[in-house]
Amino acid sequence: MKAENFTENLIIGAGLAGLAMAARLSWHKMPYQILEKSDQVAHSWEKHYDSLSMQTSKLYSALPHFAFPLHYPKYVPKNLLLEYCKNYAKEFAMPIVFGTEINNIKQLTDKNWQVVSKNKQEYLCKNLIVATGNCQIPSMPDIEGLKKYRQPLIHSQEYKNAENCDGKKVLVVGFGTSANEIAYELHKNGAFVSMSVQNSQHILYKDSFGFSSHEYMVWLYKMNLPSAMTDYFSMLYQRNTVGDAANVGINSPNDSLSVQLKKGIEPTVDVGTLDLIRKKIIRILPAIKKIHPKDIEFENKNKESFDKIIFATGYQTLVSKLFLQMKEIFNEKGRPEKLFFNDYQGLYFLGFRHHLAGTIYGINEDSAKILRQILG
Ligand SMILES: Cc1cc2nc3c(=O)[nH]c(=O)nc-3n(C[C@H](O)[C@H](O)[C@H](O)COP(=O)(O)OP(=O)(O)OC[C@H]3O[C@@H](n4cnc5c(N)ncnc54)[C@H](O)[C@@H]3O)c2cc1C
Repeated sequence: MKAENFTENLIIGAGLAGLAMAARLSWHKMPYQILEKSDQVAHSWEKHYDSLSMQTSKLYSALPHFAFPLHYPKYVPKNLLLEYCKNYAKEFAMPIVFGTEINNIKQLTDKNWQVVSKNKQEYLCKNLIVATGNCQIPSMPDIEGLKKYRQPLIHSQEYKNAENCDGKKVLVVGFGTSANEIAYELHKNGAFVSMSVQNSQHILYKDSFGFSSHEYMVWLYKMNLPSAMTDYFSMLYQRNTVGDAANVGINSPNDSLSVQLKKGIEPTVDVGTLDLIRKKIIRILPAIKKIHPKDIEFENKNKESFDKIIFATGYQTLVSKLFLQMKEIFNEKGRPEKLFFNDYQGLYFLGFRHHLAGTIYGINEDSAKILRQILG
């Protein structure tokens, strides 16, 4: 192995987490390198739908040491977030090697980490920060007949905008934030929208009483209350803003918000879709039982056909696949449960935690913890 491939600190992934960690290392004048499989920073945001903006307020969603420009709106749209990330990497003169996909990581006997790319390039480092993201590949439910539907059937990652949906019957599957936003946009562009909802969901309005719900959640988090009290106040907040949605077919989970977050389930941020559901403009349908070539069969045995189906059913991470050994540090969903593990010195995971104050807020906090650990 070539000695020039040794770096004290190596970061895999130039998404928001990788960039945050890099800025913290730059700030402390520590050497590092970033390896990124795509050809740009924050690549995963590029792939999402055109109208996407952050659901979290810009006040608490900037990366370390670099605030969002003042003229950016409260909820930063995707194109401005991409611009911000590019400027961020430039500001700290980040050494990023693009087009380098890592597919194997292992610890050597001297405790250094060996990282091998798809094209067999090897890198060695003392500290390895894995920031490859929680949302790498689209999750599709395992439904009988999925591949046989004769009309367009896509995952939300392939959805770009509501073009050509005017007057069309569209089924959106799921009730997470993406499902909520896509259903709203489709309706505004003349589609007849139905939503198939299987799971119960905590819901927050994007804004309530003129304030961002995200800012309220940050405030609640900063109170540092026992989790039962945090859950109680978030439940009161939901009850007094969103109210009961069970009567329109969207149940509230038995689990509290903090238990849901631990399981990796974030609350839905509603942009106006719930109001359309309450007004019976958007229909709620049960879970899908089976897909036939020409129609969809629901759990209540009703069958219906749609011009288009969009599965807004979330994403999966592939991080555990990078490790041939050490499988015990990953949970059943393949996510690392902790930022670092005593048995594997020098290995850190950033961006895999769901946080009451938002994932990016968590990335900020966790990158500071990792830095403290590295500094010793
Ligand atoms: C639609 C959507 C909207 C969201 N909105 C918000 C929001 O408003 N506020 C908020 O706090 N959070 C939000 N999140 C959650 C989260 O903050 C974002 O997903 C954020 O992009 C996470 O950053 P990341 O760096 O952890 O992951 P990613 O942005 O996915 O970055 C990971 C990077 O690693 C690279 N990579 C992956 N595998 C490899 C490999 N093997 N080798 C080399 N490179 C690799 C990828 O190409 C990518 O560039 C949102 C998530 C989604 C899906």
